[in-house]
Amino acid sequence: RFITFEGGEGVGKSTQMRRLAARLGEREQRVVTTREPGGSPRAERLRQLLLTGRAKPFGQLAETVLLASARADHVDRVIRPALEQGAWVLCDRFIDSTRAYQGVLGAVDADVISALERVAAGDCVPDLTLILDAPTELGLGRAGARAGEGARDRFEAEDGAFHERLRRAFIDICRHEPDRCVLIDATGAENEVADRIWDVVSRRFDL
Ligand code: C5P
Repeated sequence: RFITFEGGEGVGKSTQMRRLAARLGEREQRVVTTREPGGSPRAERLRQLLLTGRAKPFGQLAETVLLASARADHVDRVIRPALEQGAWVLCDRFIDSTRAYQGVLGAVDADVISALERVAAGDCVPDLTLILDAPTELGLGRAGARAGEGARDRFEAEDGAFHERLRRAFIDICRHEPDRCVLIDATGAENEVADRIWDVVSRRFDL
């Protein structure tokens, strides 16, 4: 079972992914948690190259191709082997982040995005994608709090309009693929959001 977590900055994806992993673990399920960009040693090096520093080191197209290379490595070495061994794979960001950031916001051609997606992810399509949604100000607030802890990267320096478009992009993805994607209200206490997610997951997979 392959579940991805998607959404804008600071909506709590990583926290909620850990919470779901813990809950599945309590039920004796084998769980692998991972993330993109990155997730395998080589892909993490590409992540560093792409995300460190304020300036954009590559053009949009080059960035998209590099992200696809990172994904190919991540899928081959981490995601597919884990799925084949029967583990649950939970991934913090995946194909939908590329569609939203590089496709919608970066204006990279949709055909290029989907061709690269097929090449890099192949048949590793998520069984379920949880799109965490929160008003832009809330997400920005959380990302800002994290920035204080030194987690700031170039994308979190973008303005409110950028984040609003990002939010829209994820909502649109959800509308287009309602079988795979579920929009999760990410407002409220961490526990409440975790319960909403568990509700969806336990029902979907009959747990
Ligand atoms: O999920 P996390 O916040 O750790 O993601 C790291 C950064 O990478 C984000 O700020 C996001 O803006 C950026 N990113 C991107 N394109 C992707 C995936 C992530 O620009 N396809």
